[in-house]
Amino acid sequence: MGIAVGLAGALLLVTAATAGVVSSVFGGGGGGGCVGATGTGATSPVCAEVPVGGWVRPVVGEAGSGFRTGGRPGHDGVDIMAARGTVVRAVSGGVVVRVRCNVGGDSWEPTGGPMPCDSDGYPGLGGCGWYAEIRHPGDVVTRYCHLIRQPIVTVSEPVTAGQPIGHVGSSGNSSGPHLHYEVHGGYPATEENAVDPILLMRRKGVYL
Ligand SMILES: [Zn+2]
Repeated sequence: MGIAVGLAGALLLVTAATAGVVSSVFGGGGGGGCVGATGTGATSPVCAEVPVGGWVRPVVGEAGSGFRTGGRPGHDGVDIMAARGTVVRAVSGGVVVRVRCNVGGDSWEPTGGPMPCDSDGYPGLGGCGWYAEIRHPGDVVTRYCHLIRQPIVTVSEPVTAGQPIGHVGSSGNSSGPHLHYEVHGGYPATEENAVDPILLMRRKGVYL
């Protein structure tokens, strides 16, 4: 349970140990996630739950609309219902490859100023709202849509499993707060390489 070391324990370790020992504790993918999680509070369960190199749920909540259902054949992801402001986490380690505001057929890089995605959208508006994409080893890409404000990660930033990347909102083509979560079996992510997130995550040992 090396990755279950709490913040206090980690600080003691840093004080007492050589740099070599510290890097062996935090060198793994899961260990890195633990370090990131301490920034949001040492009581976060992420440290204890994320195995090294593991996968986690992007948000805890009930599954809503599914992947390419009969009624929504163009729905390329799964909706997970969660309260506005709920933390959204990277499902696994990787690198952020896109952070964008996407509404009504237009798409913008963050400018640092107010953007159309800063307010709620509505069904029929179109677009992912504020969203981020992460490229994982093996060229799996995950996409997280309708965030309440600009994602808290930036392009080219490495992330670890369970690391907070943003917060649930209702920007873009959305009827209410939820996470629209996509998985793509290739890079870059396209409509053509979208796969069912529930099936992919199940193979990784995670049940949405
Ligand atoms: Zn959706």
